[in-house]
Amino acid sequence: MLTKFWIHELTRPAFEEWLKEEASPVIILGVGSVEQHGPHLPLGTDSLTARAYAHEVAKRTNSVCVQPCFPGYSPHHMGFCGTITLKDTTLLAVLMDTIESLSKHGIKRFLVINIHGGNTHIVNLAMQRAKREFRVMIAAPVGPSDTEIGRLHGERQKKHFDVHSGLTETTTALTLFPDLVDMGRLADWEPTFRVHPELMAFLEGKRKDHETVSQVFRACLEPDTHH
Ligand SMILES: [Zn+2]
Repeated sequence: MLTKFWIHELTRPAFEEWLKEEASPVIILGVGSVEQHGPHLPLGTDSLTARAYAHEVAKRTNSVCVQPCFPGYSPHHMGFCGTITLKDTTLLAVLMDTIESLSKHGIKRFLVINIHGGNTHIVNLAMQRAKREFRVMIAAPVGPSDTEIGRLHGERQKKHFDVHSGLTETTTALTLFPDLVDMGRLADWEPTFRVHPELMAFLEGKRKDHETVSQVFRACLEPDTHH
């Protein structure tokens, strides 16, 4: 059994022993972003969350975790100071190179914990290509969405358009890295993102026309968050 789980903290013999003795060795890859997260959350919120989840999963499953990079794909947040974005090709290359290297050492199973929506398509493409090119098993699970709390959470996120720096990310950050959250900065802060109240009514997930209206709404959303 491992006592340390980050690959960069293991000695080579410790890694080799794990690979030899663990019946189903799995590498947990954590990816997130460095981008604006409102006035109160750290720029690295997504990557800090990915790091915490990857480490926790590794600990519970005797797996090894890897965080190949801190920034992710965030061109849509570049209007805000402090954002670092990798190019889509850079992030894809980082993921592919990481998986390729580890597959050459005999790792067959990978799990990606991706915390940043902007990375999703790139992670999915990396999964598809890695399976074909390196003959590995790789999953990037989302959810659970079919539990009671999963359903409540999903509905709430839809209804309040809670996709970034809102209740979900704030409570997560307060749980995982409270020292880095500066709630005082919310004292005289006014929300800058407002949905017209008539449109807001359509975000109610139970409405029959929710799906159609939200497709149109998303089609009309500006690509960059500062707009
Ligand atoms: Zn985030």
